[in-house]
Formats: sequence, C-alpha cells, structure tokens
Amino acid sequence: MRELLSLACEECKRRNYTTDKNKRTMTEKLALKKYCNFCRKHTLHKESKV
Ligand SMILES: [Zn+2]
Repeated sequence: MRELLSLACEECKRRNYTTDKNKRTMTEKLALKKYCNFCRKHTLHKESKV
C-alpha cells in the first residue's frame, strides 16, 4: 500500500520532487526542507498529489 506523492515548494508551488510513502505507517503530512531550483534556495516542500 504505497501512495505516490509529489513534493511542492511552499513559496513558488512548483513540484520539484516525487516520492512515495507507506500509508499505513506514515499518516501525517510530509513537510521537508529541500532545495528549490526555481527559488534557488532551500524552502519547505509539502506533499501534494501527483
Ligand atoms: Zn520554489
């Protein structure tokens, strides 16, 4: 039971990364600091549907 997700930059809303998660073990929303090529800095990326 894995769900495919994308990680979207909080600042420009672009989807820079794709990932998946196990719905049974990770029920909370993912939010990671990752590098955004468009903002050219590390920003918070939150999960969204692919
Ligand atoms: Zn960005």
